[in-house]
Amino acid sequence: MKFGIAGAGFSGAVLARELAEAGHSAVVYDSRDHIAGNCHTERDPDTGIMIHRYGPHIFHTGNERVWDYVNGFGTMQPYNHRVRSTVGGRVYLLPVNLLTINQLFGTTLNPAEAKEFIAEQADDSIDEPRNFEEQALKMMGRRLYEAFFEGYTRKQWGLPPTQIPASVLKRLPLRFNYDDSYFNHPYQAIPRDGYTAIVANILDHPAIEVRLSTPYTPAEHDDYDHSIWTGPLDAWFDYRHGRLGYRTLDFEEIRAEGDFQGCSVMNYGDLDVPFTRISEHKHFAPWEEHEGTVAFREFSRLAEEDDIPYYPIRLADDRTLLDQYLQAAAEEPRVTFAGRLGTYRYMDMDVTIAEALSAADQIKSAIAGGEKI
Ligand code: FAD
Ligand code: UDP
Repeated sequence: MKFGIAGAGFSGAVLARELAEAGHSAVVYDSRDHIAGNCHTERDPDTGIMIHRYGPHIFHTGNERVWDYVNGFGTMQPYNHRVRSTVGGRVYLLPVNLLTINQLFGTTLNPAEAKEFIAEQADDSIDEPRNFEEQALKMMGRRLYEAFFEGYTRKQWGLPPTQIPASVLKRLPLRFNYDDSYFNHPYQAIPRDGYTAIVANILDHPAIEVRLSTPYTPAEHDDYDHSIWTGPLDAWFDYRHGRLGYRTLDFEEIRAEGDFQGCSVMNYGDLDVPFTRISEHKHFAPWEEHEGTVAFREFSRLAEEDDIPYYPIRLADDRTLLDQYLQAAAEEPRVTFAGRLGTYRYMDMDVTIAEALSAADQIKSAIAGGEKI
């Protein structure tokens, strides 16, 4: 079969490769002039530093199939992500761990004491947290919440944390030891030659053609047996029910000599600092040496029509709209919707790859079983 695929990010690339391996052909379109979607990396011409053009990306997973898969297309360098946060004129370690607690409260608590202390701070009147704020108050109490989460979350989402789903906070651990690794996953790495090289290797197959700077529209759909859409779900339907909400990011570049901030990511929890964080990209490749440095202040705002959609907001209004689009997607003949934009969900790279692999499995078995896809 001949597949037309919209989007050359991980979703589109993995699906194209799996289908090509199974004997089908795929033409992968991207409206941008490069592959790898939001994971795109490129070397800065002045310093040689590998830049993550759409914000810092750290690969982390517990999924063996996904880990084996990415290792089949490039060298993954072990990288343990650590984040700091500047709040009230002091620097702390994130995610909240024993050092963060002892620093914030001026204590010398051991793990058991800290657990008890935080349990006393936590709001146990909340049974089922209905939003981010309630989740935080139940988990860690008001002081930690106000220091590290309230201001940052308002800046990141442009809304009071009472309007943000509790699930957003559940992504972050709370630890009662001195482990300051940002993620819990057993595999954490950054590709030695960047994400774009990995995606290029995935797409490198004789049955795959890539067309850059070429948007895919329902008109191209007629040229193929089946379309795979990893662009925005509402865009496929020409926004017929309205627009799904996204946050977008603006990056302000900083150039300096040597080391600008001494770590890859410094968050800023205070509301009166207008940016959420600064990422300094040479620290994502500590195995390389560079004299200069490039960092980015990150500002979050509501995406307008022509902005790059980064984070699906998924508030109550969006969910109603989303249900309408999901219904339309389920009824759309000969189209598979995939990826972060195509399903309007927050998805890390490993989940994106896992879902693309299983979507390809489903398509292949449907074809093998003679089902209509
Ligand atoms: P995308 O990468 O968004 O690719 C979709 C592609 O489709 C784009 O290239 C777009 O140009 C193209 N497209 C859209 N419409 C059309 C059209 N009509 N025709 C042709 N092409 C079209 N994940 C992690 O695991 N670790 C991290 O540290 C991490 N950090 C992140 C930081 C930020 C700021 C953001 C926003 C995301 C982060 N992610 C991270 C998530 C990661 O970016 C996604 O998991 C991944 O990009 C999803 O891949 P995708 O192919 O589904 O979508
Ligand atoms: N968050 C926060 N303070 C921080 C870091 C994160 O309040 O210093 C909140 C914020 O709402 C964010 C969420 O926790 O959206 C999840 O954090 P994560 O680091 O996973 O954010 P992302 O990778 O989505 O930028």
